[in-house]
Amino acid sequence: MIRPAALKKQASAGGVIVRTSGGMPEIALVSVKGGNAWCLPKGIIDDGETPEMAAVREVREETGLTGRIVEKIGDIAYWYYIRGENTKCRKTVVFYLMEYMGGDTADHDDEVENARWFAFDDAIETVTYKGDRSIIEKARNRIGESGK
Ligand code: ATP
Repeated sequence: MIRPAALKKQASAGGVIVRTSGGMPEIALVSVKGGNAWCLPKGIIDDGETPEMAAVREVREETGLTGRIVEKIGDIAYWYYIRGENTKCRKTVVFYLMEYMGGDTADHDDEVENARWFAFDDAIETVTYKGDRSIIEKARNRIGESGK
């Protein structure tokens, strides 16, 4: 008999961390899934954490970079299947625009294959999921408007 999948929800938070290099803004992406996917850094909001705290922590852990939140960019949502648990999960991720304060992508954690700075155009071309792409495009528009 086929057992129907259980359903669960997960709330995550992440960031578009921006620095200026040679007068051009750059953002950090991480590579996951054995280097097959490039994503914005993000992760689950732990008990007792605000989404902002989780976003700053996840960016620091995954990329090795410390950032200061400037503003909220927006949310994305997607479904994925957890095979071992026969569970469908709906994940929402809230993303924040962050200003780079310090740290080095060489200090990314072992949960990601790589962490790297990208010019906005290259990030938009490289990133795997369209939800992440729409967040990066929104971040670029915000930066353009404020002239930062
Ligand atoms: P985390 O701790 O960061 O939440 P995770 O690996 O448990 O990490 P996801 O990164 O959400 O969870 O990955 C779960 C599944 O969803 C994977 O199959 C991944 O490829 C897929 N996935 C990740 N990001 C997106 C996205 N923006 N849009 C659609 N699917 C995604």
